[in-house]
Amino acid sequence: MKQITSVAEFKEAKAAWDGYIVITDDTGNTVHRPRCANVDISNFREKVLANKGRHGAYYFVEDLVEAMEAFTPRPKKCDNCRPK
Ligand SMILES: [Zn+2]
Repeated sequence: MKQITSVAEFKEAKAAWDGYIVITDDTGNTVHRPRCANVDISNFREKVLANKGRHGAYYFVEDLVEAMEAFTPRPKKCDNCRPK
C-alpha cells in the first residue's frame, strides 16, 4: 500500500490497469478501480494539496482484500466502478 501525495503519483496510479485506489474521508472510506470517474484529479488537488489531507487521503493498493482490511472503517465499494 502506498499513499498518493503528489499529482505525479496520482497520474501514475490513475493509469494503472491493476490495483485499487482507496479514498479515505471523515464521512467514510471508499475503494475504486483506478480509472473510475470518481477518482478525479480536481478532488485530489483539493483534498490532498489544498486541504493538506485534513479530511482524508488517497492510497494505491495492489490487492482488493488488502484494501478492504487495511482501513477502519472498512471501505465501501464504489457504486460507479464496482471493484471486484
Ligand atoms: Zn469508483
